[in-house]
Amino acid sequence: MDYRHRLKPTPAGWPRRDHWCVWVEPVRDGGPTGIWEQRWFQAVSQALVTWQQHLPITVVDQPERAQVLVERRRPPRLNNRASHGRAVLELLEVQRSERWQLEPKVTVLISPGQAQTAIQATALHELGHAFGLWGHSDQAGDAMAVKPGATPILELSPRDQRTLRWLQQQPELQSPTAP
Ligand SMILES: [Zn+2]
Repeated sequence: MDYRHRLKPTPAGWPRRDHWCVWVEPVRDGGPTGIWEQRWFQAVSQALVTWQQHLPITVVDQPERAQVLVERRRPPRLNNRASHGRAVLELLEVQRSERWQLEPKVTVLISPGQAQTAIQATALHELGHAFGLWGHSDQAGDAMAVKPGATPILELSPRDQRTLRWLQQQPELQSPTAP
């Protein structure tokens, strides 16, 4: 079983890709005073390594080359609720080899103010949204569970993996200008 029925497509279809480029906000302070940003970077990188076992993902140095941008900052309160992570999806019309195409662009905000494993679990979950899992599982052991459980989830469960495999078989975004 999986939780494909809990995912929501965009009006233009499923915001999935065969290959993703991801930019992660770099560490600016490599010295002892930069310990928090170094931990944040390690935790986010570890979550990306986990996703790379299941999806083709390239980490890029230039943000303009990426479809997913991961930023080190606390998300603003939403509906008066605080959270440690958020993913925001935009659909951009971009020109690729003389054709206009719709591409997903996702900004992921991950707060640095947590323990390292909690940051990693938050990043694993928010990156799941970024890679097209726009919905939540109703089971606590899944990376895409609605609420984080007592122990941080640092790996994709078999249900997460099956849901992702199903998503990757769906058609990509349909361009509104396609004939
Ligand atoms: Zn979520």
